[in-house]
Amino acid sequence: MNKKIGVLALQGSAEEHLGVLMRLDSVIAIPVHTKEELKSVDALILPGGESSVIGKLLHIFDLFDLLKERIQDGMPVWGTCAGTILLANHIVGEDPYLSAINITVARNAYGRQIDSFCTKAIIPQISNRESDLIFIRAPKILSWGNDVDILCRLGDSPVALRSGNVLVTAFHPELTDDPSFHRYFASMIR
Ligand code: GLN
Repeated sequence: MNKKIGVLALQGSAEEHLGVLMRLDSVIAIPVHTKEELKSVDALILPGGESSVIGKLLHIFDLFDLLKERIQDGMPVWGTCAGTILLANHIVGEDPYLSAINITVARNAYGRQIDSFCTKAIIPQISNRESDLIFIRAPKILSWGNDVDILCRLGDSPVALRSGNVLVTAFHPELTDDPSFHRYFASMIR
């Protein structure tokens, strides 16, 4: 059976995620902008972009409550960068959005656009090869609950975490040509 994965396409890097998903076997990928589309998917990616803008657009497009409900019902969801901020229970100095994972994030804590960087790490759950980790005005994860598993750390801070059906990465696997992270996310669909 094909798995249908949506990418929230209100603002930010949806196209890049869709491009990687289309390379996976047994996966159908669609951009999501409406409630009907959101109801139809087995899993959803919240892409990078500007969390404050995407957060507002979720209300304007009337997707916020349905998305929160679907996450509570167990739909796998993956936030990259801005998506991580949208899923966090706590955001330093701001009200949270979806409150779906027990982490505290500080926006832009790795610096400005010009401080963007790329590093490498082996993440055993994802691949036995090194993954490229691309950080663009990424949030820093300052604290996390006992119910959250850390998949990858950079220095003192975790940069990829999972709690049940919720996956977050502070970096951008969709900007690399390695589909391992997307394959892992697809495997979260049962
Ligand atoms: N700095 C952005 C924010 O705070 C996130 C950047 C990104 O998604 N690459 O929302």
